[in-house]
Order: sequence, then structure tokens, then C-alpha cells
Amino acid sequence: MQQYQCDVLVVGAGPAGSMTARTVAEQGVDVIFIEEHETPGTPVFCGEGLSIGGIRNGGLEPVEPFVCQQITTARIVAPNGKTVDMHAIDWTGYTLDRSEFDKALADNAVKAGAKLMVKVSATGVIKESDQVVGVKAIKDGEKVEFRAKVVIGADGHWSIIRRSAGLANYFDDWVTCAQYKLSGLDLEDSTINEFWMGAKYAPGGYAWVFPKSKSVANVGIGVRDRHTKPAIEYLKDFVANDPRFRNAKIELKNGGICPVSGTLDEIVMDGLMLTGDAAGQLIPMTGAGIHCSIESGKIAGRVAVEAIKEGNVSAERLSAYRVEFDTYWGNRIFEAGKVLHMLDKFSDEDLNVLADVISHEDIMHMANGLNVASVMAGLVKKSPLKLMQLIRAYLR
Ligand SMILES: Cc1cc2nc3c(=O)[nH]c(=O)nc-3n(C[C@H](O)[C@H](O)[C@H](O)COP(=O)(O)OP(=O)(O)OC[C@H]3O[C@@H](n4cnc5c(N)ncnc54)[C@H](O)[C@@H]3O)c2cc1C
Repeated sequence: MQQYQCDVLVVGAGPAGSMTARTVAEQGVDVIFIEEHETPGTPVFCGEGLSIGGIRNGGLEPVEPFVCQQITTARIVAPNGKTVDMHAIDWTGYTLDRSEFDKALADNAVKAGAKLMVKVSATGVIKESDQVVGVKAIKDGEKVEFRAKVVIGADGHWSIIRRSAGLANYFDDWVTCAQYKLSGLDLEDSTINEFWMGAKYAPGGYAWVFPKSKSVANVGIGVRDRHTKPAIEYLKDFVANDPRFRNAKIELKNGGICPVSGTLDEIVMDGLMLTGDAAGQLIPMTGAGIHCSIESGKIAGRVAVEAIKEGNVSAERLSAYRVEFDTYWGNRIFEAGKVLHMLDKFSDEDLNVLADVISHEDIMHMANGLNVASVMAGLVKKSPLKLMQLIRAYLR
């Protein structure tokens, strides 16, 4: 059996894996990253929305071919049709070409010195005396082994690395998504991302319209455990009920899962770290995980290198990664998760009332898990009794 040796082995060449590999390589440490598909970034399972900060923190600029459309307004649509617009003042967003974006992240890791091996599928970790020392994989139909001082699982929400290591089998809460890429549209304003709230569209989640141009958009929905029919059926209804989509052509059908229960309790063990969706690092309110994965990958890569240089890859040493991630990103994930659970108690009628009292700044903060406690305290003061009670229950 063919065996490969490296200091760091990263499994998965999504945003988390490529940023990890790049960070490790930039410090002159020997790193291989493996990807089961032929090209990183393909196929795409994503709404493709990302802020300019996320793009730049990934080391790229918001230019073609990585982005298709600039977004300057996020529009929340309440169940009764009332809209709240959040205009870009100190932020701007983009609809990505995710296949190009992810490929560029992987290319940059390779340029930094990381070795990318595609069409290699990890099948599980190798453990010796409870320490992870490598990964088993399939390459060209043959079994191969990778031996590494640190293994980093960046292999998405269904992470075989996490499961085979004996960490969490899955998440407590997740969003099931269905999405069409629609063409032939004539959107009035392609700089607006729409978020449609309410159980009538997407129980426990939301429906989205993310334009890629005036004529093309990603239109999708995400539902949580209280849905009564498959996600695709909610999407079909949403599309059928919007006259803008009447003559649209479905260019692509996709979807996928977003874990929304927050960062898992255990994301490191001796010789192993998890990053990105594999670790549950995704903002639960929005399902946005690209930026978190980029930042998580950078921290994981840096801590892995430090640990290797010190000759101590114990879980205790590697957990410095988690402490650093939690200081900002983990905290946002946690706070946004609490908002999600609070909104679970809101009926569509309550959401309509909320849309009347909430400001666009409040929405931005709540959705992104920023200053949540003070936003809630402010909302209590201006809300009618029923909402006040629901929000107070959150504050307790
Ligand atoms: C429908 C949908 C819409 C979304 N929309 C947005 C959005 O608009 N904005 C946003 O920020 N986030 C969005 N997300 C979330 C976002 O896509 C993820 O959070 C992000 O991709 C996580 O990055 P990652 O690198 O952790 O994992 P992934 O991007 O999933 O990458 C994991 C990589 O590992 C590879 N892999 C898996 N198993 C193996 C294996 N055994 N061996 C080798 N390789 C393997 C995969 O092929 C993949 O390339 C969306 C998710 C879904 C499902």
C-alpha cells in the first residue's frame, strides 16, 4: 500500500481546508491537502453570498471571475409582505462564482507550497494509542495511507474524519436546503439580496433570492425539523407563487445541509483538529459559513504549526485554536444560535409585528450574532406585550 508522509494533512479543499493548507504552507511546514472531487469548488452547493470582508480575508479581491454581482441591499420580507431594507453603508456583499472562488483559494494554497491531491477520498483516521496519526484513503481505486503529525478535518458537515475519530456523529440541529439557479429573469434591481421569513415559506429557516445578474439568481429555501414536506416542495411553491419566476429556466438544482447547532463541544483531540462545517462553525441565523471557515482555517493552520514546532500535538495544546476562534467567531455563532431559538417561538403574525418595530441595524446585528443582548434589550422597550414576553424569555 502506498504511504505518504507529511507534517500536516488536511482533508477537504473547501474554504476551510484551503485556508488551513495555505496558512501552514506559508510558514514553511510540509502540508498535503486532499480533495475527493477533481476540482476544488465543483460541484457547488451554496447560495454564494459573501461580504467583501470575507472575500478579502480569504486573500482575494471582489473581481471576476470570483464574483458575479455586487450586493448593496439586504431585504427582509416579513410573512405579510412588509419589507425592511438594509443598505450597505460600511459593508458590501457579493454573489460569488463559488466554483471559481474555491478554486482560487486552493490555487493560492498550492502557490504557497501546499501539495494538493485531488480525487483522493478519505475513509477514516488512523489512530495509535488514542492519538490520530494519519488518514486512510482511496486513490485511483487503491487504498493509500497518509501519515501526519497533525490531521485537520475540513471535510464538511458529514465529516468522515470527525465521525471515524469518535467525535460527534452529527449535529443536534440543521437546515435542509433546496436551491435552483434560475435564468431568464428580468430582476428590477439585481443589487438586492432577499430573505423571505415565515413558516409559510420555510419553517424554521427562510427563502432567499440572491441575484447573480439581472437575469440569473440563486433562489432557495432552508427548512428545519418542523417542516411538513420535503424542502424541494417548499421551493417549488415559493417559485410558483412569485410572478418574477414565471418564465424562468432552471439551470441547476442543488441544495445541501447547513449545521446550525453551533460549534461542536469537541473539535480537537490528540493529533486532530476539525475546521469549518465539520466543526459546526457556521452562523446559525443565516447559514453563512464561508467567512467562518476561512477564519477558522487560518487559526487552525497557525496553531497546528506552533504545536508541531513545540513537539506537542496533544488535544490540550491544539485547543488553543478553539479558544482563539471562540473569542470572536465562536461567540457570534453562539449568539446568533440563541436568536434562532428565540425566533422559533415566533408565529408568522409575531414576525409581522417584529418587522414593524425592528430597525435594519437591529436585524443586521441579530442575524450576525453581534451585540445581541443590547439589541434585545432595546427591542423589549419598543415591542408590544406578546413580543416583549418572547424576547424577555430569551434574555433570561
Ligand atoms: C444550499 C446552501 C447554501 C449556502 N449558502 C451560503 C451562502 O450564501 N453564504 C455562505 O457564507 N455560506 C453558505 N452556505 C454554507 C457554506 O457553503 C459552508 O458553510 C462552507 O462551504 C463550509 O466550508 P468548508 O470548507 O467547511 O466545507 P465545504 O465547503 O463543504 O468543503 C468540504 C470539502 O471537503 C471535501 N470532502 C468531503 N469529504 C471528503 C473526503 N472523505 N475525502 C476528501 N475530501 C472530502 C468536499 O468535496 C469539499 O470540497 C450554504 C450551504 C448550503 C448547503
